[in-house]
Amino acid sequence: MHRNYIAGEWAEGGDATPNINPSDTDDTIGHYAHASAEQVRHALAAAEAALPRWGASTPQQRADALDAVGSEILARRDELADLLAREEGKALSDARAEVLRAGQIFKFFAGEALRIPGELLASTRPGMCVEITREPVGVVGIITPWNFPLAIPAWKIAPALAYGNAVVFKPAELVPGSAWALAEILSRVGLPHGTFNLVMGTGRAVGELLLNDARVAAISFTGSETTGRRVAQAAVGRAGPMSRFQLEMGGKNPLVVLDDADLDVAIQCAVNGAYYSTGQRCTASSRLVVTEGVHDRFVEALVEALRALRVGDARAPGTEIGPVVDANQLQRDLEYIDIGQREGASLVFGGAALPQVDGRPGYYLQPSLFTDASPDMRICREEIFGPVAAVIRVRDADEALAVANDTDYGLSAGVCTSSLKMAAHFRRHLQAGMVMVNAPTAGVDLHVPFGGRKGSSFGPREQGRYASEFFTSVKTAYVQP
Ligand code: ADP
Repeated sequence: MHRNYIAGEWAEGGDATPNINPSDTDDTIGHYAHASAEQVRHALAAAEAALPRWGASTPQQRADALDAVGSEILARRDELADLLAREEGKALSDARAEVLRAGQIFKFFAGEALRIPGELLASTRPGMCVEITREPVGVVGIITPWNFPLAIPAWKIAPALAYGNAVVFKPAELVPGSAWALAEILSRVGLPHGTFNLVMGTGRAVGELLLNDARVAAISFTGSETTGRRVAQAAVGRAGPMSRFQLEMGGKNPLVVLDDADLDVAIQCAVNGAYYSTGQRCTASSRLVVTEGVHDRFVEALVEALRALRVGDARAPGTEIGPVVDANQLQRDLEYIDIGQREGASLVFGGAALPQVDGRPGYYLQPSLFTDASPDMRICREEIFGPVAAVIRVRDADEALAVANDTDYGLSAGVCTSSLKMAAHFRRHLQAGMVMVNAPTAGVDLHVPFGGRKGSSFGPREQGRYASEFFTSVKTAYVQP
């Protein structure tokens, strides 16, 4: 039984759910205890009590702790990638990349802990000095989704600790294994007891307790739009001071392919962006907006590329597309495939679940492609979160841009073109937090801001030095010597 980590100790008790391998549902990875309400409250009290000590720690102490976490993640890269692929179902190559990134993120924020900036300005009043400093926010609640079980916790926990906050972390109930492994590493790097706490369990039980407790000064959340709205409502509706909140939610990211695109590059971008990690990325390209001069060649080459993709056990050598994460998500993907056909789009590849691959029972789904899709169809407006993409044919670059921006979301958007002028035009006018030119919409660097516009995100950006906007509180001091 894997236990929760509270106030510097591994807490006994709680119901446990089995962590099931989606590539082989006969394989149970382990049992992970759900924190009781009392344990969650204990974690919050411990975090609050740890704040003065951790907040007063030196930048060097913080840097050393975070660097040690990063080093251990990198040293155990193969083992952690195997666990991640086994519990989440992304192909081992994707899992290895995620573990590498998580380790690098801790190292990056180890450096940031040594570079907490401030400003000193002359006052408008004679003799006065104005000093602007950044202080910890307080107790931070961190709630994460299942699709990046290690990287998303890393990119929230590392900056929270670097800037002197205490953390209560609730990972997704579907993939507690990587989160538990990360907590176990964090338990051994000399943090004062209570600075970091792990409380596993469901959103409804454990997550809600974090949202509604006045000791939580900030909530950093990544997940569905529905839960994101709930986080926002709770933050402003609870008793006591409001908490600040940062939300990363859905996407319906377009990849625009113009007539002058290098076709090989466009196909690589579409295959990687729409299908890698089984399409279960908030930055996945689920809308392929293609101008008519290249449309037929693009569709033909993409179907050929999909035929060559190897779907299988996430950990089997050569697998490119692992299973869908669980039975509910598979059901949802299949429903959207049905909806697309009923709406009049043409299913030109895939569409079927594969109950077994290589004799292993799992939640496998063929990579699926629609053509003849129009922007008003549900498959072009709602996030599916599976290996399913739709091609929308457009006349020209103007229509492509209008269609790309015709969405309630705005996380990532891509364009494939060999024209510098077009690249500049789309870079400027795509309404998204991240724009990719001749690169997949998914797959980002660790040291630069991540986040979106419109319905995709709310609050300050994550990652890079921009993370300090959310995880610090600015103080303006007026000093008359
Ligand atoms: P997904 O569809 O990606 O599972 P969710 O928004 O349901 O998205 O889950 C993302 C995270 O939010 C998970 O850790 C989940 O347990 C948590 N969560 C779900 N509902 C709530 C809630 N009402 N309050 C707090 N956390 C929640």
